[in-house]
Amino acid sequence: MRLWPPNPVTISILLGSTVTAQDWEILRESMVKNQIQRRGVKSEAVLQAMRETPRHLFVPENVRKSAYEDRPLPIGYGQTISQPYIVGSMTDLLHIKATDKLLEIGTGSGYQAAILSKLAGRVYSIEVVEPLAREAGERLRTMGYQNVSVRAGDGYLGWPEEAPFDKIIVTAAPPEMPEALLRQLKNGGRLVAPIGREWQELVVVEKDMNGKTREHTEYPVMFVPMVPRRD
Ligand code: SAH
Repeated sequence: MRLWPPNPVTISILLGSTVTAQDWEILRESMVKNQIQRRGVKSEAVLQAMRETPRHLFVPENVRKSAYEDRPLPIGYGQTISQPYIVGSMTDLLHIKATDKLLEIGTGSGYQAAILSKLAGRVYSIEVVEPLAREAGERLRTMGYQNVSVRAGDGYLGWPEEAPFDKIIVTAAPPEMPEALLRQLKNGGRLVAPIGREWQELVVVEKDMNGKTREHTEYPVMFVPMVPRRD
């Protein structure tokens, strides 16, 4: 969102006055246009899902006024909700179909899961921090997202009971590609994950109909580390 020249919404936010539902909508529209669309996300379905998802209801109250800014925000427990552009771009890279069964690693606030749920048939999401998993699960239920299941657990193991998945998205960075996740990807499926330690890149894996995988990198990223598996 451009802060200058100021418009009525930025003025009211800068002055700290109450933000109305209509203000949030204007901020969200501006986020989609200036941060997501302008940077090259073309899928109308992805853009529409982002227009319809109230990001401000997924972040803690103390950062709510920054919900539509061009950056990640703290959500407690040392974790963050990703920058809107990264959420849009990763969603776009998954090439989601309405019938897809999706797996997300790193539920966090549940925001990414909410967007995925608008595009896919069914979404399974795993979060390692128990209170975050509980809060996100409750939030999604209360807000009426009925095709999302959240569970607390270790994302390195995937969700074997529900595998295989058409698409897998990883929203915390493992140092290397987790083998279990590759195994739980369907033939013809796609997986998007930030891989690395201090230096991370967004990696896209495509699995062909014979089960052979091919991967390429998209761009450098900065995600919170995927915590090591507890053996
Ligand atoms: N997708 C989230 C943002 C994710 S931040 C959103 O839309 O808000 C990354 C999340 O991954 C954090 O909540 C972190 O606790 C979680 N995480 C880290 N390591 C994990 C692991 N091994 N398994 C599952 N979740 C993990």
